[in-house]
Amino acid sequence: MSNRPKIFFVSTAIDYVNASPHLGHALEKVQADVLARHSRFLGQEVFFLSGTDENSLKNVQAAKKEGISVKKLVDKNSQKFYELKNLLNLSFDDFIRTTEKRHIKGVQKLWLACKKDIYKKKYKGLYCVGCEQFYKKKELINGLCPEHKVKPEIVEEENYFFRLSKYEKQLKRIIEKDELKIIPETRKNEVLSFVEQGLEDICISRSSKRAQGWGIDVPGDSTQKIWVWLDALSNYINALGYGDNNKKFQEWWQKNHNKLHIIGKGILRFHCLYWPAFLLSAKLSLPKTIFVHGYLTSNGQKMSKSLGNVIDPFELVERYGTDAVRYFLLREIPSTEDGDFTYKKFEERYNADLSKGLGNLVARVMTMAEISKLSFILKKLSKPDFLDSKFQTVVDKTWKEYKKSLDEFKFNESLREIWKLISFCDRTIEKERPWEKSKKQSLVISELLFALTNIAEMLKPFLPETSEKILKNIRQLAEKTKKSKPLFPRI
Ligand SMILES: [Zn+2]
Repeated sequence: MSNRPKIFFVSTAIDYVNASPHLGHALEKVQADVLARHSRFLGQEVFFLSGTDENSLKNVQAAKKEGISVKKLVDKNSQKFYELKNLLNLSFDDFIRTTEKRHIKGVQKLWLACKKDIYKKKYKGLYCVGCEQFYKKKELINGLCPEHKVKPEIVEEENYFFRLSKYEKQLKRIIEKDELKIIPETRKNEVLSFVEQGLEDICISRSSKRAQGWGIDVPGDSTQKIWVWLDALSNYINALGYGDNNKKFQEWWQKNHNKLHIIGKGILRFHCLYWPAFLLSAKLSLPKTIFVHGYLTSNGQKMSKSLGNVIDPFELVERYGTDAVRYFLLREIPSTEDGDFTYKKFEERYNADLSKGLGNLVARVMTMAEISKLSFILKKLSKPDFLDSKFQTVVDKTWKEYKKSLDEFKFNESLREIWKLISFCDRTIEKERPWEKSKKQSLVISELLFALTNIAEMLKPFLPETSEKILKNIRQLAEKTKKSKPLFPRI
């Protein structure tokens, strides 16, 4: 047995629900799903969490535009985010909405637990509603928010503040020593250089008036709403029952050292500094790892409604199928950098890798197996001691590289290893010509079927449906039933 921990907690960030999900939202969820499925496959008990962030001012503005109540807007859009579960075959165990009672209870509890670090003061600053944060003048680019390219509004209020400055040294040490491990290294350095500039206390509330009545009340002061980030970040513990301090929270958060947050690069500071600071203040356990992915662009630009380049995941799956979309996101997009979607790239991947590469290999091997000495092959398959050493070596090496890449969150490299094995099988077929009768014919086909079984096992976390289809085809060989259908018909 390996020395992997017995349990694994993995979360996606929770999305704003001011609009429907686009393909960019799908990327992180699919990445998290691969890790959850892979860990289950390794025998770990997994808690995979996703959800929606609903108390933002953006929602109030979006609801106004649509002429509906805020509640109606968040219900409608949150449902669409939840539907990604079926659409993308996501295996999350829980989905938390920040308008739920269990969440509200937890947020207020966390506030009270941080009470000694909270104070009130008058403040004037530049606020970006899109980011839900204050900016310093020097952080703006030409006076605009670097993330949203809009002018922040000037806000002057008496608000509650959190003593972030008090935790500066502690946070620095924790991050430097990888007690809180930030992956990749470049993002870790980015966080550390932000700390170097000095951490100032942060504003953690706004007037109910500015919040337009939407959000969670500060305990004991209903004239103020809790800042949406303090609210949203605590979803990770509230889903586990922090509000009630139940057993699940103790087991999965407090006593569990194997906790991973997956986030996009735009919300680095909130997860790597503010969130751990709140947890330290409340004397709660910290996450172990934060994995930061890049953005998915569309035709080279950030997806946005105004540019008209938003890719709808529902349409894409309708046209190409769930596994093809999962494959593209995991194979084409380097996991820690930005990656681009175009229909041309998508169809190239589909045709070359899925239809021709994987689909073709499965079809060829199954056809040869169906017409050759089945009883011999099946007997050999159940006891794979027949493999020539080269074949066995290639399969073993693939598993090793595959697992190593997954441990490093390099999804695209894991997939590349599988496709190398597919090419090896193709070359073996060309060399050995097992469609012709020969002494070695059945043996070679057995070897290919053995490789195919391994390919299907490796594909499990990535393309769960396709993997199951391949394994089913192989099982049905014994029953000599119907001929198998192509996995990915040409487009
Ligand atoms: Zn912004």
